[in-house]
Amino acid sequence: MTDSLSVLSAAVRDVKDFPAPGILFKDITPILASGRLFRLAVDCFVEANAGLQIDKIVGIDARGFLFGAAVAYELGVGFVPVRKAGKLPFQTQSAAYTLEYGQSVVEMHVDAIVPGERVALIDDLLATGGTAAAAACLIAKMGGVLAEAQFLIELEFLAGRNALQHLPVRSFLKF
Ligand code: AMP
Repeated sequence: MTDSLSVLSAAVRDVKDFPAPGILFKDITPILASGRLFRLAVDCFVEANAGLQIDKIVGIDARGFLFGAAVAYELGVGFVPVRKAGKLPFQTQSAAYTLEYGQSVVEMHVDAIVPGERVALIDDLLATGGTAAAAACLIAKMGGVLAEAQFLIELEFLAGRNALQHLPVRSFLKF
């Protein structure tokens, strides 16, 4: 496992000043582009979920879909997308959160989670934690039980765990 993590870590590409000056973007496309690395990354999540008795995976728009859907398939459970506002066709619940400048909104279909279902939340990266906290809020509104929030990458210097204080959080690659 440690070997897999160092191989994955080395494959993450740093892109300076994207999408805005001062941001160091962690590009996971080299992981996606390799069958071996993509499988290693998905396996990290799958192993993390063994024993958590998950009913559904909730993936965050958009890179959370890539890992979340593969993990749901492997676990044989359903997948639920949390999307940016205005993208989902049916009735939605929404949750607002604060970005560095201004606000954003994420949405989930109102029938996506049955009350009492155990859910794992998946995204590619935990930065400030605002997005994941809003997704966690949606899961709670639906009556879901958030077993764990899981991220391939955690930017520890941004202390995103503080935004998810009361929740179990797991990440595989820490920068
Ligand atoms: P946050 O709400 O600040 O935790 O931001 C997390 C979301 O923004 C995730 O969906 C990430 O895909 C994306 N994100 C934030 N910062 C970065 C970064 N430095 N590199 C890549 N993606 C990022």
